Amino acid sequence: MPSQQFSPLVLLYFFYGLAFVCLGLSIAVKDMSESKLQLADSLPSLAVFGFSHGLHEWLVCYTLLMGREFISLPLHYLRFLTMVISFLFLNHFGICLLRSQPRIRWQWLRVLIPFLLLLLGMYLWLTQAHLGLEALRRAGMLARLSIGVLGGILASFALFRHSRLISSLNRQVADNLRRAAICFALYAVVAGIVPSHFIFPFLGVPVEVLRGAAAVGIAYFMVRGLNIFNIETRKKFERQFRQLAQTEKLSALGKLAAGIAHEINNPLTNVSLNVEMLKQELRDAPSSADTEKRISIIERNIVRASTIARELLDFARQREANLQPTDLSTLIHSTLTLLGTRCHEYRIKSELPDLPPVMADHCKIEEVLLNVLLNAMEASEPGGSIELRSRAQGPEVLIEVIDHGHGIVAEDLDRVMEPFFTTKEVGEGTGLGLSISHSIMEMHGGRIELTHTAGGGATVSLVFPAAQGAQHD
Ligand code: ADP
Repeated sequence: MPSQQFSPLVLLYFFYGLAFVCLGLSIAVKDMSESKLQLADSLPSLAVFGFSHGLHEWLVCYTLLMGREFISLPLHYLRFLTMVISFLFLNHFGICLLRSQPRIRWQWLRVLIPFLLLLLGMYLWLTQAHLGLEALRRAGMLARLSIGVLGGILASFALFRHSRLISSLNRQVADNLRRAAICFALYAVVAGIVPSHFIFPFLGVPVEVLRGAAAVGIAYFMVRGLNIFNIETRKKFERQFRQLAQTEKLSALGKLAAGIAHEINNPLTNVSLNVEMLKQELRDAPSSADTEKRISIIERNIVRASTIARELLDFARQREANLQPTDLSTLIHSTLTLLGTRCHEYRIKSELPDLPPVMADHCKIEEVLLNVLLNAMEASEPGGSIELRSRAQGPEVLIEVIDHGHGIVAEDLDRVMEPFFTTKEVGEGTGLGLSISHSIMEMHGGRIELTHTAGGGATVSLVFPAAQGAQHD
């Protein structure tokens, strides 16, 4: 029988629960299957927290409406259980998100949370002789104080840390995640530490008002933060579109380049034959030092012109790649060997853990690595450091070549993959290295990206799809 009057507190609990259910729903309907963000892996736990905690608050709302003594004991148990389950999932969300952060020791949480649960279980077991409403109320308080507060603080801390990573993608989303983190911290205090129905002395409002405000804040800012997945999809489409445009441009240029290279090669062969004959004739007749110098200049320029012609032909050649399972670390080592003594002029550090194999054409990937490493060396001062890092990243394998050289100005960043784009002195660069590398990476179903190195310099990332059936993280 309902014994209570309909009070504003009932309404408060209803909306408070609704905020959490909305949080769960908005995560549940979001398509994150293609996302590479670590947030996507942890959000399902937050959705379960939203649903179970929302249900818990609605059960509280129902209890208030009907009167505590008119509610059956199993329903009180259900209320307690939904609360404990929700806190566990909140903790899981925090741990998952922290796991993705570098330099965070989160392993101790694996021990702490079962320990807190054990304490709670022991309390329930010790009081089971008179297990009733009072024991449940105390167990509830204990759960709030332990895993509830811990969950709120973990979620808050993890979101704060994660917002730093997100800010490089989008500042607004990062701000929203930070605000959600503040609301989580507030919620941990007002829902975990301050007892229910407590009236704040100066504000004159019950703690439930602050809990409701924190809940609405969490839901609102998290839902706005979910926008990151739309931004990620949009950026992916933009990149694919750019790649498509680049591919079309490259294939048209490839045909043109092949024609030019062919046309240049014929007269070049002719010139070099004639220079040879001239040298032969001059060997028999006396000649001035000036003439010999001129001939050697002609020879040097013939070599240079034929190098350009060969690079043009390489660029134009659309051979099928001979893909075989490849260990990229071995390929990196063999490329460094190819570079020989040039490597000794720089401090080359490599961090190459065991990687899942990728399907690759050895010669072509070696060519890409050579291009990228030579660019890094040319951009660095002698003795400068160049780092080679690799890691498995979901279904992909990533190689990073990080230099701390002169870097590249922001306006040029979008143009570096364009054929013939070079910032090097005339005669120093052809501007074909990165566009050839781009085509090769595309043949492998991968991609190449050039970004700024934090603190100066450039970072080139080569991303490969891991071979089918290969193990990854
Ligand atoms: P090239 O080396 O012949 O100029 P690439 O296609 O290899 O042709 O490179 C195009 C341009 O990209 C370079 O001229 C340079 O401006 C820029 N670039 C490539 N790698 C780096 C790097 N590691 N640091 C700074 N700029 C780079």
